[in-house]
Amino acid sequence: MELWTSYLLPLPHEIHIADSVRCKPGGVGIVLRDQAGPIEQQGAVELEALFIEKGKAKPDGGAFTIYIGVAPANSAAIERLQSLQNKAQAYLIEPRGRDGLVLTGLDERGVYYACQTLIQLLEPEMSSEQVHIPLAEVIDWPDMDERGLWNFPEPATWIPWLATLKLNYGKMASTQLHPIERGRRNRATIDREQFEAAQQRAFNYLPYILHLNFLHDCGLFRAYPELAGKGDGALTGRYFAHKTGNQHRAPCASQPLLVQIIQEWMEDIAEQGAEEISCWLSERPGQCGCLECTAVGQFVLESRAFVAAWRQAQKRYPNLQIRIFLSTTTTVRNYRVLDELPPEVKIERACATELERVLHRPRDLMANPLLDYYAAEGRWIASYDVPIAANG
Ligand SMILES: [Zn+2]
Repeated sequence: MELWTSYLLPLPHEIHIADSVRCKPGGVGIVLRDQAGPIEQQGAVELEALFIEKGKAKPDGGAFTIYIGVAPANSAAIERLQSLQNKAQAYLIEPRGRDGLVLTGLDERGVYYACQTLIQLLEPEMSSEQVHIPLAEVIDWPDMDERGLWNFPEPATWIPWLATLKLNYGKMASTQLHPIERGRRNRATIDREQFEAAQQRAFNYLPYILHLNFLHDCGLFRAYPELAGKGDGALTGRYFAHKTGNQHRAPCASQPLLVQIIQEWMEDIAEQGAEEISCWLSERPGQCGCLECTAVGQFVLESRAFVAAWRQAQKRYPNLQIRIFLSTTTTVRNYRVLDELPPEVKIERACATELERVLHRPRDLMANPLLDYYAAEGRWIASYDVPIAANG
């Protein structure tokens, strides 16, 4: 049992292996349920690939059968999985006699994770001579809805690998906001090929709209000088990763024109198949000095602009969701941003402050009373750790 579990990362919540069987890789058959969706199919394809690559045989035999698929209505499996946390990603593996294993879940995502667990169990001992199959009983679910990385290289190789570890989130660094031209509709392009490949692996490769104080990079202030934040207070400096070039400048976020530009980007991204967009507030402290902006506050207005644009975009793309990425270097008026964001808007932030570190064994805690309060109420909040003081 210990040997089996040493093959697994992450370790399932509940796993029991009392027995195992051995047979030729070619003696194993994989049976996918009728009407399996693309994510279930992907799980089966990856399991089959293991047999072909390491077992040197196509798994279409009859000595041992692996059944893969979402659980049928009213089945006992549904009953057992229904009450679990993040149940759409939960799964169950159980033996069917001594010559079969059932891999199932409430949703395709769970089925995909069941396949990953079985692949991890079979891979170390698989050879062309033999496959050692545990008659495993597993029930598993993730503690957190979303798990993954903000920055990572080579999505075409990293996403399939991350997915095998049951990680399901990555920022789409290649999201492109096209140069802004006055009077023209604004355009954005996502990496559709990788987006769809990720989707098949139950992985959210999430497009985003850049920090609003970086939009001079897209020509915002050249096209619309009136949208430049007023005064030196709107200058938002540079940080560690942006040592050269002009200082960033926050936009004048009280103007409806900003909403329209964001809306057009959102619609373009949704048109390409994405159902969620990460929306980045200005990254550093800054405040447009015009009367309307100073009365409300930069970050409150930027959040409102994203929400207003999203409401417009939802008229054509009703399933579109957004998440707001809070500034990484200031908490100015976060309490107001959190207070007025609609509950279905997710919140994400990077944890970059020494102040939030609380000594704790075995691992320090990062505590933030405001965010912790909302999280305890059930609000969806993601936190990305970055090296302390990386933002200088
Ligand atoms: Zn302003």
